[in-house]
Amino acid sequence: MGASQPAPPQAAAPPPARVVTRFAPSPTGFLHIGGARTALFNLLFARHHGGDFRLRIEDTDRARSTEPAIAAILDGMTWLGLDWDGEVVYQFARAARHAEVAHQLLAAGHAYRCYATPQELEALREAQRAAKQPMRYDGRWRDRTDFPNDQPYVIRLKAPRDGSVTIDDLVQGPVTVANAELDDMVLLRSDGTPTYMLAVVVDDHDMGVTHVIRGDDHLNNAFRQLALIRAMGWQEPAYAHIPLIHGSDGAKLSKRHGALGVDAYRDEMGLLPEAVENYLLRLGWGHGDDEIISRAQAIQWFDLAGVGRGPARFDMKKLESVNGHYLRAADDARLVALIAPAMATALGRGLTDAGRDLLRRSMSELKKRASNLNDLASGSLFLLRSRPIPMDDAAAKLLASAGAALLQAARDTLAGTSEWTAPALEHEARGLAEARAVKLGQVAQPLRAAITGAAQSPGLFDVLALLGRDESLGRIDDAIAHLQQERATA
Ligand code: GLU
Repeated sequence: MGASQPAPPQAAAPPPARVVTRFAPSPTGFLHIGGARTALFNLLFARHHGGDFRLRIEDTDRARSTEPAIAAILDGMTWLGLDWDGEVVYQFARAARHAEVAHQLLAAGHAYRCYATPQELEALREAQRAAKQPMRYDGRWRDRTDFPNDQPYVIRLKAPRDGSVTIDDLVQGPVTVANAELDDMVLLRSDGTPTYMLAVVVDDHDMGVTHVIRGDDHLNNAFRQLALIRAMGWQEPAYAHIPLIHGSDGAKLSKRHGALGVDAYRDEMGLLPEAVENYLLRLGWGHGDDEIISRAQAIQWFDLAGVGRGPARFDMKKLESVNGHYLRAADDARLVALIAPAMATALGRGLTDAGRDLLRRSMSELKKRASNLNDLASGSLFLLRSRPIPMDDAAAKLLASAGAALLQAARDTLAGTSEWTAPALEHEARGLAEARAVKLGQVAQPLRAAITGAAQSPGLFDVLALLGRDESLGRIDDAIAHLQQERATA
């Protein structure tokens, strides 16, 4: 189906009373990132106009729709705070209503019975293929009335054959298709079940949907759906077809690019929902150069004019950096609760109240160094480890080259401090470095290794202060003992 020159303008629809949008996923898989963005745009548009955002599960394909997929969609939407209004509409449950509309159209002469057999239609397709013609139903039952008895039939829409239809798409602009390119689509199958095209149109009408905002892979469907809407004499919705998301290399988004279920962004990548939301918002929609945009701000600013016509590129690095921003802005107690389960698993034990308190007090330092919850959890483990804490290779090397004598001197210096605070401890360490005519790092690095088991960590003196005197000195003693033992057995 090709777009041609815009046709003469058609009668403008009266402005709708109240904006209603909907997200209409087919539950054949998880809620993927493109679907989540479509849902978000529908939500923001509705909220911006003080209208309703509805959710419809399009489960008419009984073979491919599954309960776990429905659960994953609801779970993903809840996690992202994509709160829909009213009850969820399940399309399959409305099949009788869909059939009713098909029969109404039949009675009004806008639809007809087609008795063409599958073999006949296959032969038609074969002939069209051979003649290199587009494959379309040829309307052979459109005007017939000589109905055979007891033969199965489908109900087809009697679509207009002349002229053209223009959709003034709110994202794509005017798009025109000649009616000759659209064949008479099936509305009701011979077993009485409605087709997907019929179901969508009837549901949108019955739900009062005023704006259909969805992926541009549905643009072709819109022309057929519009023919059906006009046959029923129903109010036409406004359409906005959003370009699909592509991978960072410009190819259609695939798993390799991060086209995963939103649950993977939460469970595997450790991202915060507000970060995913902010990133999705900016993926294909813009408001000047603004990058960090709150939900409230997005509702105020969102419009379809800001949606780009070209495909947006998914960029995992960008998403991580947006996540880092939200991590630093997040409430510390919330972050502790979010990382606690992963930390308990890594430690092989639950977290104590004292452990959670230590994490909370340390969080402002810890979160500076992480861009996702996984890194935050693994980077915080050293605080809760039981003595003697494990050393990574870099830490073990640092300790070995510093030697037990230096560590002992550092321990004694720190132990002599009048108050166990970061500035006081730093002052003591500097004093020792000066007395030995070495750089501060030569004292601080082995200490860091002893205290954290790694060569990198949040600020050493902050960590010492947070861990407290007894735990800190105990960890240094462990490292000294370990070095002495190694020497004895060497
Ligand atoms: N169920 C369709 C899908 O998941 C969406 C239909 C629509 O938005 O009109 O792609």
